[in-house]
Amino acid sequence: MSTYAPIGLTGGIASGKTTVAQLFRSWGAFVADADDISRHALDVGTPCYEQTVGTFGRHILLPDGVIDRKKVASIVFSDPEALAVLNGIIHPYVHEVILTDSERVFAETPRRLIVWDVPLLFETGYDREVGKTVVVTARQSLRIQRIVARDGSTKAAALRRIRAQMPDREKVKRADMVIRNNGSLEELETRTREVFDELLETMDR
Ligand code: ATP
Repeated sequence: MSTYAPIGLTGGIASGKTTVAQLFRSWGAFVADADDISRHALDVGTPCYEQTVGTFGRHILLPDGVIDRKKVASIVFSDPEALAVLNGIIHPYVHEVILTDSERVFAETPRRLIVWDVPLLFETGYDREVGKTVVVTARQSLRIQRIVARDGSTKAAALRRIRAQMPDREKVKRADMVIRNNGSLEELETRTREVFDELLETMDR
């Protein structure tokens, strides 16, 4: 019998985590994407929409009733208390959606691999709610190259973003499985497949 034990997937910026999540998805896993859920948390009709407008006021709305994210971002950028309030609205919602979606998938297809793709898996304590954890890492120089190529930022800015996060070695210490993404995309796929197969194998143990 399968037991409910989602897999926690994480990795620092530009490590290749999204690529790994896409591969898992293409092989049939259900991936709950915390970033994607939080990007949609303020959409019209969500409980967060009501709470955010109720808290910050109707001046954060665009004429069509959509929350003006730039306005909200500019408010919380310079006001840590407002940021904490916004996080207090969004984070529980993201958690709730991840749990509800995962439990539904497990009830429908108990043998399907369930993956929680959470950038701050260890920092936010999500790791305590999952079965195994998978960390994607890559050499710093490669991550800088990938950030510069993708976002057009400077090397210095890329390095600052990397340094603002939990170091890879700390994540690796805490991980059950590690995917080192220092080669080609083909190599990444091969290693990811090994991890995927091992996760499937251990599901029933
Ligand atoms: P972020 O957390 O910043 O969103 P991420 O960890 O999810 O990043 P990806 O989006 O998977 O990382 O990868 C970052 C960029 O690097 C992407 O453009 C991706 O196509 C590229 N990339 C990832 N792995 C490789 C690789 N092995 N070879 C070449 N390019 C790669």
